[in-house]
Amino acid sequence: MEEKKTIKPQLPKDTPVQYVKGVGPKRAQFLQRLGIKTLEDSLYYLPWRYEDRKNLKKIAELTCGNLETTLGEVSSAKIITTPRKRMKIFEVVISDGTGFLKCRWFNQPYMEKYFKKGQKVILSGVIKGSPSLLRSALRSEEGAGFGSLNLSSGFEMDNPDFEHVEDNDKFIHTKRIIPVYKATEGFTPKQMRVLMFNTVNAYSSLVTDCLPEDILKRNKLKPLQWAIKETHFPEEFNDVSALNRGIGPGHTRLIFDEFFLLELGLALMKKRKVSEKGISFSASADSPGGEKDKGTLVSKFLNSLPFNLTDAQKRVFEEISEDMKKDLPMNRLLHGDVGCGKTVVALLSMLTAVGSGYQACLMAPTEILAEQHFINIRKMTNGLGLKTTLLTSSSRNRPVPNGTTPAAEISSGSAHIIIGTHSLIQEQIKFKNLGFAVIDEQHKFGVVQRADLRKKGFNPDILVMTATPIPRTLALTLYGDLDISLIDELPSGRKPVMTKVFFSPQKKNVYDLINSEVSKGRQVYIVYPLIEGSEKLDLKCAVDGAEAFKKIFPERKIGLIHGKMRHEDREVVMSAFKSGDIDILVATTVIEVGMDIPNASLMLIVHAERFGLAQLHQLRGRIGRGGYESYCLLMAYPPLSEDAKRRLKVMEETGDGFKIAEEDLSIRGPGEFFGTRQAGMPDLKIANILRDIKILETARKEAFALADCDPALINYPLLKNLLYSKWHGRLELIKS
Ligand code: ADP
Ligand code: MG
Repeated sequence: MEEKKTIKPQLPKDTPVQYVKGVGPKRAQFLQRLGIKTLEDSLYYLPWRYEDRKNLKKIAELTCGNLETTLGEVSSAKIITTPRKRMKIFEVVISDGTGFLKCRWFNQPYMEKYFKKGQKVILSGVIKGSPSLLRSALRSEEGAGFGSLNLSSGFEMDNPDFEHVEDNDKFIHTKRIIPVYKATEGFTPKQMRVLMFNTVNAYSSLVTDCLPEDILKRNKLKPLQWAIKETHFPEEFNDVSALNRGIGPGHTRLIFDEFFLLELGLALMKKRKVSEKGISFSASADSPGGEKDKGTLVSKFLNSLPFNLTDAQKRVFEEISEDMKKDLPMNRLLHGDVGCGKTVVALLSMLTAVGSGYQACLMAPTEILAEQHFINIRKMTNGLGLKTTLLTSSSRNRPVPNGTTPAAEISSGSAHIIIGTHSLIQEQIKFKNLGFAVIDEQHKFGVVQRADLRKKGFNPDILVMTATPIPRTLALTLYGDLDISLIDELPSGRKPVMTKVFFSPQKKNVYDLINSEVSKGRQVYIVYPLIEGSEKLDLKCAVDGAEAFKKIFPERKIGLIHGKMRHEDREVVMSAFKSGDIDILVATTVIEVGMDIPNASLMLIVHAERFGLAQLHQLRGRIGRGGYESYCLLMAYPPLSEDAKRRLKVMEETGDGFKIAEEDLSIRGPGEFFGTRQAGMPDLKIANILRDIKILETARKEAFALADCDPALINYPLLKNLLYSKWHGRLELIKS
């Protein structure tokens, strides 16, 4: 039996692009640079813009400065050599009965072979020349004929795209809305278009549409094959401006798919967690350690605070408490602007867990931040009779006063509250009974670390804290498997920080301001991007800076802190700054988070153009905490990139973390902003989280609904496969 011809050709999606017709090994290397590795990649490599070459204009109707497409007959074609033989120009004159158009190609004499007198060609390009001159040229043509016409005064096009009319079945570059692809070395834009045309024609019909049909219907989404064809070579949808904004129906379908697969993965992860049993904290008050009644611990702590909680803090703690009572594992995101008081709320929740007899931990992204939290929390919980332990890679096996080690305290259960870095999730670390875990500054960790931390206990409740406030829908997506709490209120007494960009000629003014703040009894941060000088980049560094400022301010006490110092030395500097023994603290970004010195009223950021927006905002959040007029001075060193200018301007204009996060997102793009790849989430290649937020919302709703009624995707095996391949490497998180 010959089965062969009945087998439908399949698209081997991961076929290396090298084997696509017209590519080969050399071109495949060039395509790699565009991120195109496989046949599938090339089908999803969308045009970055479109040109309407559909409506051919008569030559007389062309408009200067516009990109136009016209059709005519070759009147003459010749190579001209410029004086002194510097350049060879190939010049073609086209006529269509309404006028003449001169086309020129520079130093491409081989063009000659494409143009023969009398041939019909379509040309697309930007029109140069003057219409009034053309009109006069046309008038003179009526009387005197071709020979007397001063063609140089008519319309011109340089390096136009062209196609011969004989090929009327293959209008790739003209007579249609044409796609323009970002080309790369080894390809002209035109060759790129030909390649895409052939690829799309040969393979797009072999793509399998894996989305449930009812979802497509409900949301009026086009079939996938149609969408791929139409986004590359539009035939049915002709609105060029919509296409250029990426909102044609073809785009919409592809964007929906990206969001849907992202959200479906998140939905299934969330579903799986919800189906597990967690700890009900109120119910376990009689377990080991239960004698420290939860109510007493929390209320003792509240009474010891020198301030009242803000309404937002109260509301959020209420939300967390509700979750903690349930015997389901909590997975909650706590976000809010820098300084809104997240740590206090996290601590209250940790105390709730400790009061019920469990251990609670807090994981921070850097050693210095962990140390900060440790010092603050130990101080704040002083008098509650709890043991607080610090675990970092340098402290792990360091003996502590009673002769044991932090690791031993954690496993024996003598440590109630454990603060640490990612050391907490290392193999060797065993908790006695971890019930509650806080992850600070989530954007620096990913989904994976969260899962690892969860494994350290028996489904502990997890609270993720981030100071990168983002719009709710985005938060729902980025942290799509989490519930969300927002502290949208700053404690009273916070003052907006005056922020100003400076350049080095104005540094005298900056020094004066620093001096006057210190004279008033305030303290100052000076932040550098580097610890030590770099020979390659002419950058200022913290070590040199500290020396320089000792000379500039000989009467002031100047301290230095950076990440390469020993933990003990850092602690000495920190407490000296806290107690006011240091006036000016020169630092690297180690102080980005967690530093809480209300007396500091001025921050100078050197080479501010080198910092990201989120980082600048975090740094600035260190000041303006004490009710004093506060200043953030951004010292920039030209030349500044456009992005850098924008970042600095945003900093001058607003202190609102939400606005800053949105700006940051639009400057950096979602991939980098969210670190999606690092977080193990599928990439968004086509979708734009800001532009396409409506589609995101729909996709999310559909994905969560599907996860509800078919969590194992039993009825959708194709979709299930696709989902697993998109969430490459993160399968175990989805598989139940
Ligand atoms: P975040 O972690 O959200 O950036 P923190 O929790 O570090 O903010 O709080 C910043 C500072 O504000 C800390 O000194 C903290 O003690 C203080 N703080 C927190 N809540 C309040 C409040 N309700 N009223 C006054 N000060 C507060
Ligand atoms: Mg914090």
